[in-house]
Amino acid sequence: MKFPDLLERFISYVKINTRSDEGSQTYPSTDSQLFLAEKLKRELMEMGLSDVYINEHGYTFATLAANREGPSPVIALIAHLDTSPDVSGEGVKPLVHRDYNGKDIIISGKPEIILTADKNPALKDKTGRTIITADGTTLLGADDKAGIAEIMSAINYLASHPDIPRPCIRVLFTPDEEIGRGTDRLTLKEIGADAGYTVDGGAPGEIEDETFCADTVKISITGVNIHPGYARARMANAIKIAAEILEGFPKDSLSPETTDGRAGYIHPHLLSGTVEETDLSILIRDFTEAGLQEKEDLIMSLAEKARLHHPLASLSFNIERSYRNMKTVLNKFPDVIEKAEEAVRLSGLLPVRKAIRGGTDGARLSYMGLPTPNLFTGGYNFHSRYEWIALEDMEKAAEVIVRLMGLWASAGHIDSKGIIA
Ligand SMILES: [Zn+2]
Repeated sequence: MKFPDLLERFISYVKINTRSDEGSQTYPSTDSQLFLAEKLKRELMEMGLSDVYINEHGYTFATLAANREGPSPVIALIAHLDTSPDVSGEGVKPLVHRDYNGKDIIISGKPEIILTADKNPALKDKTGRTIITADGTTLLGADDKAGIAEIMSAINYLASHPDIPRPCIRVLFTPDEEIGRGTDRLTLKEIGADAGYTVDGGAPGEIEDETFCADTVKISITGVNIHPGYARARMANAIKIAAEILEGFPKDSLSPETTDGRAGYIHPHLLSGTVEETDLSILIRDFTEAGLQEKEDLIMSLAEKARLHHPLASLSFNIERSYRNMKTVLNKFPDVIEKAEEAVRLSGLLPVRKAIRGGTDGARLSYMGLPTPNLFTGGYNFHSRYEWIALEDMEKAAEVIVRLMGLWASAGHIDSKGIIA
């Protein structure tokens, strides 16, 4: 399966600065995301899709109708327009390193940005391929413009190959994913799909079907301030009470810096205070609700102990729910994952199910009622100047999308030779 338009599309998308901005109150957070949305809208219209529009909040929608008789599922393909605010995305100059020779890739001499083969073990499988990087001054933006380009090329392929069976496809490009607002203004009605896939993952073959469960525990400590010279038995120092709570946290476990794999953590990330009033905000992450509860119970018991120590002070708690592990929802829709795995196999790759140590827009969508796992893009080192992607892996991602749509069109029947000749 060939996608001759893929490289050009990708290069043209990454050149548009779509950095999102946490400090902005508008939606989308930056106007520049709309430039990319407008370009995509034009291209989708040229491909002949219907119902192509950008809504008032900057979401781009389009529909490619099913090409078979009878009822068809509606499948959404989703990617995000914005790039991470952490690294500059201004004036991205993509470098195309053709016929990669297996050695270190010098992205730039000044500042010295070198992709070393030992720090990037995935590079060793890419000999002879075409590697794309930025020029060392910005991120590349493969997160998630690779996902956008792969969806666009797959849709272009399907639109120009009407002989290939497909279900009804809803294309959706969202703003502000990187600042956690990607699904804020979305409704299931407007998406209008039975299942969805975000194309926003990493290494070839990976299908992410699990996310963390996430809460934020906020503790407000009210102390008693009084002239320090006359404070004996009359002062309660809220700063010290916060420190006492933090001191009780395990030192060698349960933190981001001491865990990986399936272990969750407790992560104090904001502390501000005076003697009288101190606020502590703690991120809680675990793959299970029970694990989340255990960690919250531990914090509560430490806080209770500190409170008993300081009877003059008072403490209040607030637990904010962020998102839940999408696996709980996806387990009820085994087809959604199994078809993705089959599409990966039909494309000649090994499917690898992965759990994300974080959240995705798909996790929120899954809980809204649209089961939405995450498919690979082929990109590495997201949110950094070291970001890179191989063109051949992007082609595989586009092929997986085409084959996946074929599997949905055939209403669950999977031919052992694959749907597409
Ligand atoms: Zn992303």
